[in-house]
Amino acid sequence: MRDQIIAGNWKMNKDWDQGLSLVAEIQKMMLEESSDETKVVVASPYIHLARISEMVTQSDGLYLAAQNCHHESAGAYTGEISASMLRSIGVEYVIIGHSERREYFKESHELLASKVKAVLDHDLIPIFCCGEPLSIRESNQQGSFVNQQLSDSLFQLAPESMRRMVIAYEPIWAIGTGRTASAAQAQEMHHSIRQHLAGQYGKEISDEVPSLYGGSCKPANAEEIFAGPDVDGGLIGGASLNASDFMAIVRSL
Ligand code: PEP
Repeated sequence: MRDQIIAGNWKMNKDWDQGLSLVAEIQKMMLEESSDETKVVVASPYIHLARISEMVTQSDGLYLAAQNCHHESAGAYTGEISASMLRSIGVEYVIIGHSERREYFKESHELLASKVKAVLDHDLIPIFCCGEPLSIRESNQQGSFVNQQLSDSLFQLAPESMRRMVIAYEPIWAIGTGRTASAAQAQEMHHSIRQHLAGQYGKEISDEVPSLYGGSCKPANAEEIFAGPDVDGGLIGGASLNASDFMAIVRSL
């Protein structure tokens, strides 16, 4: 049975008080609902991580993620945060390769491969994002495009490392646009990703890797998307900024 995960990616939103209130609300709702099957992950900005780390130790099923990290453990990299620093404050997951980082910060496949390695080397779990832009979807090349992203940044991993990965399929044309992949489109891509992993690592390992959908996932469409047998949850942007919406999505899984 693969982990079922809903991860909220706050991006560059929520100041100190707002962020802590949001986590407190999520905690309260989780306690009332005892939603024990699903791992609920909060990917806050760096400023909140240490404090939220103390909060999540009091909540079963609630986990902490960073949205990025540097690929080196330490050194003269002004403004950066390393995987070892994240590990030292109790972070458990790190989002790597979000399309916004690929686009705005020009993160290459090679860089992402080294970030994934750094995260795994420090016993953290990478949530590796992949997904095609609209032009690729319109020319129906999304399968090979995403396979290439996976091969380029992940296929240097040993099988025991691949087992620890989480994949997030996020079609770029659906992120923050209000336009969602249909349930059939989502399932088709998640299945294709699993087949591609199986081709390299074998079916047993590919069947263990959770695969999340991301892209304008909302309470109104989450249940249908998560119904796909290869979809193991969601990476949620906008709707994770509101505790009621976020928890409604958790409930739909
Ligand atoms: C994301 O950025 O990971 C994302 C899925 O955003 P949204 O849900 O807002 O489309």
